[in-house]
Amino acid sequence: MVVQTVASTSDPAVDLGPAAALSCRECGHRVPLGPVFACEECFGPLEIAYDFSAYDTEELRRRIEAGPANIWRYAPLLPVPADVADKPNLNPGWTKLVKADNLARELGVTGGLFVKDDSGNPTHSFKDRVVAQALEAARAFGFTTLSCSSTGNLAGAVGAAAARAGFRSCVFIPHDLEQGKIVMAAVYGGELVGIEGNYDDVNRFCSELIGDPAGEGWGFVNVNLRPYYAEGSKTLAYEICEQLGWRLPDQIVVPIASGSQLTKIDKGLQELIKLGLVEDRPYKIFGAQAEGCSPVSTAFKAGHDVVRPQKPNTIAKSLAIGNPADGPYVLDIARRTGGAVEDVTDAEVVDAIKLLARTEGIFAETAGGVTVGVTRKLLKDGVLDPAKTTVVLNTGDGLKTLDAVAGTGLTATIRPTLDSFREAGLA
Ligand SMILES: *Cc1c(COP(=O)(O)O)cnc(C)c1O
Ligand SMILES: [Zn+2]
Repeated sequence: MVVQTVASTSDPAVDLGPAAALSCRECGHRVPLGPVFACEECFGPLEIAYDFSAYDTEELRRRIEAGPANIWRYAPLLPVPADVADKPNLNPGWTKLVKADNLARELGVTGGLFVKDDSGNPTHSFKDRVVAQALEAARAFGFTTLSCSSTGNLAGAVGAAAARAGFRSCVFIPHDLEQGKIVMAAVYGGELVGIEGNYDDVNRFCSELIGDPAGEGWGFVNVNLRPYYAEGSKTLAYEICEQLGWRLPDQIVVPIASGSQLTKIDKGLQELIKLGLVEDRPYKIFGAQAEGCSPVSTAFKAGHDVVRPQKPNTIAKSLAIGNPADGPYVLDIARRTGGAVEDVTDAEVVDAIKLLARTEGIFAETAGGVTVGVTRKLLKDGVLDPAKTTVVLNTGDGLKTLDAVAGTGLTATIRPTLDSFREAGLA
């Protein structure tokens, strides 16, 4: 199995390993690999199509297991050159899959409950996975500036990746994000621009910039590099299965912002089944949103195929996308796998952050509060099966959203004497 011999593109200057072409998710029209994201025939979104035909299952498994302890162990399944591990990159991934026995007891789960803790990535969110892919695509296409529209975590991941790789970065966020997110995005030295508006306004602005001379030659990781970016989320599926001993979980609970992550986790699981790396058996994917930005769960519950945009108002700002690009695909996947999409209130998000911290010693950002809160709700409603192996994603670090739990603090303030300690009732 030699990846380099797989025909990858009509342009020999672009080496993206097993990636063969871009393919339209709506009509299947194929175009050569390039920095494009919309189908020229129907304007549908493009995604990466691969040629995995040369792979032998056991050889591939051995090669993955012998690979580095980061996402590049899966390079044979990603749109990256075979020598990707030698390039300057933050090398995210291979985060912990925590067996959450205390949380399981508290929630009544008997079939095994795991938290995939992506706060362990270099910039403390899952976004390092997707940016790592976009960076390699940017390098292959000759871009030297990285940009994005971001709900916060992506801005930090792009800033850090650009710093490591020697790229310029200029990223755009809603101006009123959490202080932790702003500092995390600014500290790497790139340009950080606050836009007066919400994420959907920022996104619209970036779409305009990309068509303007001012944005010419820029690699927007989640716009013109989106097909490559999106593939990074597959590594979550690969890691979860490998960490379970090359086994599919029965149920996965995934947060939804644009919905990209959820759809690519499904794509990753499907690939593992087709490659014979896991046994082909049913799994269910559940989507999680905050009630204050729940366009996908609203559509799911109403039985709709289309997602009506909402104006976000929630503390889960990293998930606050009112017009999610992948919403309809998420609905398809939840329905096809027998899963569901559910939402929880901000109060339930805060409660779930504290529950996870108190039971497992994991401090999640608000997005993690959303997935744990939705897990609790779906168990209570009998939608999640407590007897099945369940994986819950924590996609970010609580240190970035301290305001959400600002009500927690000192148990007592005492003088530095034993008497004072006893008086406080702590002895
Ligand atoms: C971006 C993000 C997600 C999910 O994003 P999608 O747009 O749905 O792929 C989930 N959690 C956190 C913390 C994020 O920053
Ligand atoms: Zn098309």
